[in-house]
Amino acid sequence: MSNDRLTDVSEAGKKVINSITDIKLYIDGSFVDAESGETFENISPYTNDKINEVAFGDEADIDKAVKAARKAFKGEWGGLKLKDRLAYIYKIADLIDEHIDEIAPLESYDTGLPLSQTKKMVARAANNFRFYAEMVSARLVGETYQVDDEFLNYTVHAPVGIAGLITPWNAPFMLETWKIAPALATGNTVILKPAEWSPLTANRLAEVIDKAGLPDGVFNVVHGYGEMAGASLVAHPDVELISFTGETTTGSEIMKNGADSLKRFSMELGGKSPIIVFDDADLDRALDAATWGIFSFNGERCTANSRLYLHESIADSFIEQLKERVDNIIVGDPMKEETQVGPLIHRKHYENVKNYLEIAKEEGCEIISGHIPEGTKGNYIAPTILLDADNSMRVVQEEIFGPVIAVMTFTDEDEVIEKANDVRYGLAGYVWTNDIKRGHRVAQAIESGMLWVNSQNVRDLRTPFGGSKHSGIGREGGHYAFEFYTEQKIIHVAIGDHHIPQFGKKK
Ligand code: NAD
Repeated sequence: MSNDRLTDVSEAGKKVINSITDIKLYIDGSFVDAESGETFENISPYTNDKINEVAFGDEADIDKAVKAARKAFKGEWGGLKLKDRLAYIYKIADLIDEHIDEIAPLESYDTGLPLSQTKKMVARAANNFRFYAEMVSARLVGETYQVDDEFLNYTVHAPVGIAGLITPWNAPFMLETWKIAPALATGNTVILKPAEWSPLTANRLAEVIDKAGLPDGVFNVVHGYGEMAGASLVAHPDVELISFTGETTTGSEIMKNGADSLKRFSMELGGKSPIIVFDDADLDRALDAATWGIFSFNGERCTANSRLYLHESIADSFIEQLKERVDNIIVGDPMKEETQVGPLIHRKHYENVKNYLEIAKEEGCEIISGHIPEGTKGNYIAPTILLDADNSMRVVQEEIFGPVIAVMTFTDEDEVIEKANDVRYGLAGYVWTNDIKRGHRVAQAIESGMLWVNSQNVRDLRTPFGGSKHSGIGREGGHYAFEFYTEQKIIHVAIGDHHIPQFGKKK
């Protein structure tokens, strides 16, 4: 590839990008072609040219991976002592750190997410492994109950079995490790089905984990389309759980498909999160947060603040400043350090976002857009503000998943709470006010899984991540993931000779 695109990229990044080859599946400790021999094309968001070919996994490959994962679970992996299992998890973390300089550029190259942003995201991946290794050693404890001096009851946590992990293309590397780390640390075996639009870093992860030397079959990656590889993983009777991150409609489809085999599900789904700015807020900081929260990660962010509610007394000046920001945002090549917004992941997604801009026009919004680079074939959508929006519009109710923010005004607290809650999603929410009572009150009144007061989307790995309403079921992070990936058992032990009915015994 032309090297002038890579001037801001580390030497390790250049090397890995310049040596991209076709991608295979990773099953039972080996890189293999799909059983069918078929492949699919991986396309660049910046040029819309082919990057490489990817093995097209389907039902036969999923079945092969399940057999390998079952064998490992029943065999060597299942038999490991905790400290030996966790030694592998720490090793994976160290290896990710060693390769960090190449993974972020690879992710930007594949997804169109700006380099400065993938660097931060990818850096968290190694921490995911360390965090869950520490968490499991601290948390692998049970409870004991004494019952009437005759019994001792105690609980233990056991791994569930084979974990099917299905992930999206936005921040793929981080989101994959966020699931893989707790699943492996708690003793499960894993089959990852990465998003078909972003296979490069999932493949690099398989290579890194392969280097860590885990027993064969513990970790498997089956690339492929959702309706085939993904659906086969969900329907497979020997897969005990599915942790899914993606669109709400896909989540619903997966739950139906997994119902026959009574799977355990974790669902991290879409969002349409509000940011509410009261007139007493620190308006400069609120403006920074509102701009970053929608335009970072190209707006392809589940927790993006895509609905902005401004108190009417500050709305005009806030909107003027937001327009100025949009006008100045640097939209460009994701491989350049200065780029703030890159091209969207795929032509299909680009068409979808474009279509929402048409809908916005039809619904009566005034559309204010920034700039896109000239003369590229990339999937660029300029950072966009939708003015004159209201809650009845599709562009306010539906997840656009691009750099588009709908702006509305309000007069009082009750009104804005009602408007904020008037969508089917409930993932995140942001409140800006310097009235401490109001900050807590509004945060508690908003129907969503995660709320930030006077803050942008910062989080601590110990805290629950996830949504309510149509944004999800269950939580990831901290001990929430620990509970999801383990089966809790209660063991009853008699320590006295309690009465047992003697059916059929001759008197
Ligand atoms: P998607 O639902 O289209 O695909 C996600 C994954 O599911 C992909 O790997 C895909 O191949 C697979 N899939 C698709 N159909 C399937 C089926 N029938 N059975 C099994 N697997 C199937 O989502 P996407 O477009 O990749 O990602 C964007 C969405 O993800 C947005 O809605 C975003 O809000 C959401 N998201 C949510 C969170 C969260 O934590 N709540 C985080 C990131 C992204």
